[in-house]
Amino acid sequence: MTWPATPYRADIVVPCYNEEDALPETAPVIVDFFTGLVADPGCGLGAFRLILINDGSQDATWSIISELAQRYPEIEGVMLSRNFGHQNAMLAGLSVADADVVLTMDADLQDDIAAVKAMLAAYEAGSDLALGVRSDRTTDSAGKQGAANAYYRLLSLLGVRIIRNHADFRLMSRPALDALLSYREVNLFLRGLIPTLGFSVALVPYARKPRLQGETKYTLRKMIRLAVDGVTSFSIMPLRLIALLGAAIFAGTMIAALYFLWVTFAHSADVVPGWASTALPMLFLGGMQLLSIGILGEYVGKIYLETKRRPRFIIHKTTSDAPPPDGRDMISVNPPSASVPARSR
Ligand code: UDP
Ligand code: MG
Repeated sequence: MTWPATPYRADIVVPCYNEEDALPETAPVIVDFFTGLVADPGCGLGAFRLILINDGSQDATWSIISELAQRYPEIEGVMLSRNFGHQNAMLAGLSVADADVVLTMDADLQDDIAAVKAMLAAYEAGSDLALGVRSDRTTDSAGKQGAANAYYRLLSLLGVRIIRNHADFRLMSRPALDALLSYREVNLFLRGLIPTLGFSVALVPYARKPRLQGETKYTLRKMIRLAVDGVTSFSIMPLRLIALLGAAIFAGTMIAALYFLWVTFAHSADVVPGWASTALPMLFLGGMQLLSIGILGEYVGKIYLETKRRPRFIIHKTTSDAPPPDGRDMISVNPPSASVPARSR
């Protein structure tokens, strides 16, 4: 058997949150690009589908997706019941995908779509994963670049394996995708899971462009959330550091206690009750304790969320659902394929 069987089909998953400015421009570009690849005899791609996931947008994103789906037969819209966040929205799309290869990209096309050619070439040459890697970060603000560098350093110190400058622009073969979908964790950090899958990996460098339409949908809060998930889903090192810190402080306190006893008994006349020597250790220990409890709480919270096994996303409807007979908007439609969290593979 030749790998891959050609012509093969591709699903392209694009999570969209408040993308009314970007989608009308970018979706046709994506469709045209892939139509060109299908027509290209040098490329083994035979057909494609563009899956647009509406991640609980508050603007006109869903009506734009519905219009696009009517205009382009290759487009399918999937509407989540609320905002589940970028990672879960992407997972929803991945679970709907049924093609031989699946690509993920952002709705703003900041990631250079031309790199898809190299991804497909890598797939045709036998790679199960083709990961887009930013060749430079000059389109990021200095603050974001600094934060990204510090974060990568922290992750590698904590022993988390991650591919530097790879976000969520990637190609996955069917076997790799099936492996990813078998991971059941609620706290998703896809770019951290990918290196744990194994399979043959190709890195595809590309330059990231600035966002042309709309603003970033990654607020500082969402970014910090993702960063914390990245650490706590992959490393228990912070918990070990707390224990080590506790042991070090305990040892220090024992030595200090011996010293104080010695001072009290040997030089009792010189002992002046000092404010600093009382207040500083209290503040220090109080701060350390609160920080440690906070880190513990973060992990306990994660355990709590994981044990509940709540769905990671809920699909409300898709553009290929039959419209209700009386023309009303559908109230609650969860097609069997949508209850993905319970999906058995
Ligand atoms: N996004 C999403 N849900 C969210 C936030 C973002 O689906 O809660 C999507 C967004 O529409 C875009 C992608 O995730 O397609 C990346 O977001 P964005 O481009 O705003 O992030 P940035 O490139 O600034 O890091
Ligand atoms: Mg972007």
